[in-house]
Amino acid sequence: MIIQKSSNPRISSFDPTSFSFGNTFIDHMIICEYNNGKWGDLQLVPYGPIGFTPAMMGVNYGQACFEGMKAYKDKDGKVFLFRPEKNAERINKSAKRLAIPEIPKEIFMEGLKTLVDIDRDWIPHGEGMSLYIRPLLFATEEALKARVSEKYLFAIVATPAKSYYAAPVSVKISDHYSRSANGGVGFAKAAGNYAASFYPTQLAIEEGYDQIIWTDDSTHEYFEESGTMNVFVRINDTIYTPKTSEKILDGVTRDSFLQLAKRRNLEVVVGDVKVSDVIAAQRNETLKEVWGVGTAVVTSIFEALGYNDEHLLLPKLSEEESFAAMLKKDLTDIQTNQAEDPFGWRV
Ligand code: PMP
Repeated sequence: MIIQKSSNPRISSFDPTSFSFGNTFIDHMIICEYNNGKWGDLQLVPYGPIGFTPAMMGVNYGQACFEGMKAYKDKDGKVFLFRPEKNAERINKSAKRLAIPEIPKEIFMEGLKTLVDIDRDWIPHGEGMSLYIRPLLFATEEALKARVSEKYLFAIVATPAKSYYAAPVSVKISDHYSRSANGGVGFAKAAGNYAASFYPTQLAIEEGYDQIIWTDDSTHEYFEESGTMNVFVRINDTIYTPKTSEKILDGVTRDSFLQLAKRRNLEVVVGDVKVSDVIAAQRNETLKEVWGVGTAVVTSIFEALGYNDEHLLLPKLSEEESFAAMLKKDLTDIQTNQAEDPFGWRV
């Protein structure tokens, strides 16, 4: 691995109590180029721009995918990644679907650990604080030819993430737009999936909602995901979540919630979540909670569902009554080394 440390580090001016998530970047980044059929040297370099022309294939034909994961610092300053192998595996599932060469797991893990270790001072400590890490793969060949690129870049960049109170949100159940289809790329973290979700989300925001519950593209009768999160529904004391498929992203948080729910002996059903069943449960007051899960906010609690022209309110549960809040705490306690980790999730 080639290590080129920054001669002008910005860490001394980083204020962990006041920074902007998503556009404050740590001092270094990882890059690794793919050319002539193979991955080159893994490099740690100062964070900054890298030159490309508008003829770069990644921006023309969209061969680009990414990951989202976090590193946490405990009270003694020890740093942990959370289930990083899952992200290494998932980026390659995405890559394969987009005809991007897979990045060997060893390169992914070595780059990740080296970057987080060298820039560990950038990881804020405290409730909800973390370092958000973005590994990505994209086509870099300069060619206006609608075919698979011959050159790629693997990169890892990172931005400190703050504790923020995730206010309850209103979500619109989609009756027209979809984020994925059978035979499509919904299971992949393809950059284009996010591009395609922005316009329908803008429309939902104009209607007064915060995000969309994506439903299946053919009937709109089944829940798939919510915004950029997997979705959970609780009717009475049973938790329901859609099965992962080629249309649904296999979220690390979703999988962790399922294992934590099982450990608590909660009743969980993984399978079809019918819109009509959720609406009927709301009407007969057996619908207790609906929430989204993902790396960024861990849990987002929903306060209302938009269904056709109706605005259906959800019960306001206390922290003690909420399964979502309970499982979130179970998870964040493990992530931040405040609880035993019987699953071996911390790295
Ligand atoms: N679905 C989509 C579409 C997402 O972008 C994400 C965020 N990666 C998730 C679900 C949640 O996945 P994870 O728990 O691995 O962050």
